[in-house]
Amino acid sequence: MDSALNLPALLRRYGLRPDRRLGQNFLVSASALRRVVAAAELRGDEAVLEIGPGVGSLTRLLAQRARRVVAVELDARLQPALEEVLRPYANVRLVFGDVLQHDPAGLMGGEPYVVVANIPYYITSAVIRHLLTAAARPQRVVLTVQREVAQRIAATPPHMSLLALSVQVFGQPRIAARIPGGAFYPRPKVDSAVVRVEIFPQPRIPEAHLSAFFRLAKAGFAQRRKTLRNALAAGLGCAPSEAEGLLRAAEIAPTRRAETLKLEEWAVLTAAFLQKQNSPT
Ligand code: SAM
Repeated sequence: MDSALNLPALLRRYGLRPDRRLGQNFLVSASALRRVVAAAELRGDEAVLEIGPGVGSLTRLLAQRARRVVAVELDARLQPALEEVLRPYANVRLVFGDVLQHDPAGLMGGEPYVVVANIPYYITSAVIRHLLTAAARPQRVVLTVQREVAQRIAATPPHMSLLALSVQVFGQPRIAARIPGGAFYPRPKVDSAVVRVEIFPQPRIPEAHLSAFFRLAKAGFAQRRKTLRNALAAGLGCAPSEAEGLLRAAEIAPTRRAETLKLEEWAVLTAAFLQKQNSPT
């Protein structure tokens, strides 16, 4: 059952054209599909959330390897073709709508879940934010994304970004596979990669500190070429001397730039920031 679908023929039969505005680049290479599924390391007892099943190329492989799959597709035009492809699989539930409008935990009925998806690239950051700020975060996230974005997510200091930090506070990313453009129909303009994020049971910054942490990180990365002293002063709306005092309290040189900081340093900076807020001098 693992042979790839004859996707162009299926689309023709249903009078469908891939809609680029919805990021519709369907996976057609059997080996690429196998690599995405292998990256998820499913044992057979998982509940899987798939975002954007398209016409089900990946969904049916997930259905063969997981206990159940919930697949959320925005484009209702695909419904008849998707239902045909998935007819043999009673363990798949299709939901039509925008995944960003659905609480993932609610979709999964409150049980632990993993996310496996070849997502539309134009909503990559929004999807990641949506999953990682959900009431119940997934246990693992395996996403096919633009290769550059995968590299940015898995970056380490001194190449950190707000995206890398936002993911790494919740989990450990690694690039599990590279997917060439020819694996998709139609072929996208960019190369792709599968990024796998193993979500920690608890974030690396205490939950109660997360909003202060994101405030600081956004300020730090908003003006990346500036030193942290100046970027934090501008972003937090305080005097540079005050930002410098905060950085010194966290034992971080004020002349460093945001992309060089380790997550542990952001954690100390956040704690220092909260302490100063609670005991202004
Ligand atoms: N999983 C299929 C595959 O690998 O062949 C299709 C992947 S295609 C890159 C992305 C899919 O996401 C499309 O079917 C598109 O219609 C759907 N999509 C786009 N925006 C969406 C959204 N906000 N919520 C749910 N699905 C969405």
